[in-house]
Amino acid sequence: MKIAIGSDHGAFELKNTLVAGLAGRATVIDVGTNTKDSCDYPDFAIRVALAVAKGEVDYGILCCTTGIGVSMVAGRFQNVRAALCQTVDAAIVSRQHNGANVLCMGEKAVSCEYALKMALAFIDTPVDMDVRHARRRWKLERGGRLSDVSGLAADDPEVFASIVAQTEQEDTEINLIASENTSSRACREAAGSVLMNKYAEGYPGKRWYSGCLPVDAAEELARKRACELFGADHANVQPHCGSAANMAAYFATIKPGDTILSMSLDQGGHLSHGSPVNFSGKLYNIVPYTVDKTTERLDYDALEKQALEVKPKILLTGASAYPRALDFKRIREICDKVGCLMMVDMAHIAGLVAGGVHASPVPYADIVTTTTHKTLRGPRGGLILCKEQYAKAIDSAVFPGMQGGPLENIIAAKAVCFREAMQPAFKEYAAQLVKNCAVLCKTVQDRGYRIVSGGTDNHLFLVDVKSRGMTGKEAAAALDAAGIVVNKNTIPYDTESPFRTSGIRVGTASVTTRGMKEPEMIKIGTWIADVLDNLADTSIQERVKREARELALQFPVP
Ligand SMILES: *Cc1c(COP(=O)(O)O)cnc(C)c1O
Repeated sequence: MKIAIGSDHGAFELKNTLVAGLAGRATVIDVGTNTKDSCDYPDFAIRVALAVAKGEVDYGILCCTTGIGVSMVAGRFQNVRAALCQTVDAAIVSRQHNGANVLCMGEKAVSCEYALKMALAFIDTPVDMDVRHARRRWKLERGGRLSDVSGLAADDPEVFASIVAQTEQEDTEINLIASENTSSRACREAAGSVLMNKYAEGYPGKRWYSGCLPVDAAEELARKRACELFGADHANVQPHCGSAANMAAYFATIKPGDTILSMSLDQGGHLSHGSPVNFSGKLYNIVPYTVDKTTERLDYDALEKQALEVKPKILLTGASAYPRALDFKRIREICDKVGCLMMVDMAHIAGLVAGGVHASPVPYADIVTTTTHKTLRGPRGGLILCKEQYAKAIDSAVFPGMQGGPLENIIAAKAVCFREAMQPAFKEYAAQLVKNCAVLCKTVQDRGYRIVSGGTDNHLFLVDVKSRGMTGKEAAAALDAAGIVVNKNTIPYDTESPFRTSGIRVGTASVTTRGMKEPEMIKIGTWIADVLDNLADTSIQERVKREARELALQFPVP
């Protein structure tokens, strides 16, 4: 057991007694103060609180004249639960009920001898696992979601209100938007950090401004981790979003007017793959490919035939609404036959690739682009991975080609995300994500809804609601009223407009991050069918909304 102990000059003797008295029971780290000279209590409280927050020690003990100042400082740190105690009983209960991990005491409030008794009682008392107390400790931690931004409550109440509303929505709704997820606290902390203050045009070691050492370290980490996570030669972590990553990939490799063969938007492709309203459709000669009309899957032989006819400069695969696994080896063969670049946009499936539940495009593709915020569960942003031979062209296409200063705070959050994605827990999440999707899909299918392509291999599926007499727009609105959030989506060969659509898209990334598993998917699938079976029945929507809220609250958002 490790304990960090600190005090200011007002409790110097008390601290020394505790250091000596606990030495036989634990490894004691004395963070000071070391003299009776006047000093500032926050300095020592911060050292102890940080040691506890980092997990370097099991407990902290903090003392000052009253114990009040040090307890206030320590209580502001995430994962620190500081208890100001004056009796042995209070020290024991602070462990049992509140799960305290820092004991605060005042030299004027307790004798040295009694304080040692309190400290021993504190470290010897286990946390009570009773559900009542567990629930309250959970709420105590959850308070952190708001306390993280509580400065805004006073500084800008209007923006604060928007954040509170989003927090409430995440807590109480079932989010099935396939492109969304719920990032970790660590990720959000990096994204909201002071790294946003730095201008850093250029790349680590080659910047246009001075003072870039701290952000260089963060960006270098992000690049290194991205390469390690995906087994890539080179990573550019600067694109502000997925569309920007795609733009840079085109800029680096082809000229305006050149041909890109990509999946058409209404069949599952992305805006930035050549939609006429997007820069990609305006700058390049876009030839769309489609899925097979009966299987609603990619027909690789047909794609090969089309590619040989069209002779594109880039064959682009990857989609926003394709529920089936992609065969990258086969696509490589096609590109080799045609002599074109193989570019894969794995925005939706990057988390599945990182977690080992979808084949990786990285060994095959010349260039892989992605977002970092979908199944990969990082901050909102883009990433480009490429073979060494394209590294220079990609880097100069991003900066100075199309962006100015990178968002170093977001890049740091990407680094956090890549590290998280290398942990064993992420593999479990990815595997569960796919399992959850299959179960949710089957539950809806078993209630008589036609699923595009007959099922799913990944984190999303498409329901053909038109076949049951409603538009995607109507279906999504009814589900929204029932606390279940999906989006309307075109399905292959859709006869409805993109504003109405024949389908809805359903994804399981966010609910899986919250810890939901197969039994919850069956519940949610049943609710979806209940609501859609009775589209106009608001009483069913209200019932589902109540039940969905109850379920959501049982699965805390990180
Ligand atoms: C989401 C997505 C993108 C880009 O998204 P941004 O909103 O620009 O970050 C690019 N490609 C595909 C396939 C996507 O699904």
